Amino acid sequence: MELWSRRKFFRTSLAGSALAGANKLFGRTPTNGDDALSLANLAPPAQGKRPLIISSANGLHALDKGMDILKKGGDTLDAVVAAVTVVEDDPNDDSVGYGGLPNEEGEVELDASVMHGPTHRAGSVASVRRIKNVSRLAKTVMENTNHVMLVGDGARRYAVAEGFEEMNLLTEHSRKIWLAWKAKTSFNWRPGIDSPEWKEHMAALFDGNEAEIAYAESVIAHPRTGTIPCMAVDAKGDISATTTTSGLSWKIPGRVGDSPIIGAGCCVDNEVGAAGSTGKGEENIKICGGHTIIEMMRKGMSPEAACLEALGRIAHNYKNDKKKLGTFHIYFYAINKDGAHGAASLWRNGYEKKHAVYAVHDGTEAKLVECTPYLDETGGDS
Ligand code: ASP
Repeated sequence: MELWSRRKFFRTSLAGSALAGANKLFGRTPTNGDDALSLANLAPPAQGKRPLIISSANGLHALDKGMDILKKGGDTLDAVVAAVTVVEDDPNDDSVGYGGLPNEEGEVELDASVMHGPTHRAGSVASVRRIKNVSRLAKTVMENTNHVMLVGDGARRYAVAEGFEEMNLLTEHSRKIWLAWKAKTSFNWRPGIDSPEWKEHMAALFDGNEAEIAYAESVIAHPRTGTIPCMAVDAKGDISATTTTSGLSWKIPGRVGDSPIIGAGCCVDNEVGAAGSTGKGEENIKICGGHTIIEMMRKGMSPEAACLEALGRIAHNYKNDKKKLGTFHIYFYAINKDGAHGAASLWRNGYEKKHAVYAVHDGTEAKLVECTPYLDETGGDS
């Protein structure tokens, strides 16, 4: 069992919907950081305990579902897909599945991948429209086809053939924010160009709801990323992972991030561990982050150290130029076969400049845990 130490852990009393409610900002679930960190500073979570399931912070309220399956001796891939399905179904999470922020044409396009450690199999889908549960779709590709990856309309048609329901994935919330973005960025989508008219337009769009307007303004100024990677190791040491996302808001139609790329946004080796990522997927793809982390752990690095190594490679690509690195944010998350876990963020801050965190369920309760920052300062256009 790996000996593991961290500088500092915080956790919150996450149990229960009351706190889950407190975690919501303007009705949405924070993505990679959380204001609940200020609520408590309790004991550190366990390391080296199995079964274990972890995810990005927005999976906090969903990990119970996966842990229940693990405790009953269920399959690790069933556990992680069940957990992220909760987030895909949640209209209040505008970074994943139903209600995800759309591409520049107002169409939600989803990416997802899965890897099943015990059978060394993988499945993935990208740029999928009108299908909500793309992690389950990626699993279906893995189980029922002779392929690993399906994209675009072919993936949608395959989903329909497999009995997945087609639906409009835009909620009123995500549609209005998209309309506000269109209005902000194009003369043709707004009634006038001076600021009083702009304000009136925004007020009309959001029924005068100041919080909604502020949120829309912030998403327009800093296009949201957000995703849920989730990975689990069971009592026997079998490992699986999935990553699911609506990708970068306002993306060019057809843009694919790291989430469906096996070896970047999702990677599993049943003899070693699993890794996933959130944030600017383009940076991860260029360093094959998931695979890098697995190989570092194979050489004996802790999950935390391996995640930091991956971030170091990204920083190296920019000669550690903080100005350039400050234009984006990225996080890595990893577990190993022994049940150790870790996550690292390029910058110290997560959502709303709070400390970046990730979610861990070690069999007792789901907790938020600090990510280790690669650059111990605030940054990143997120
Ligand atoms: N990594 C995802 C992508 O690039 C987005 C995110 O995690 O926020 O599509």
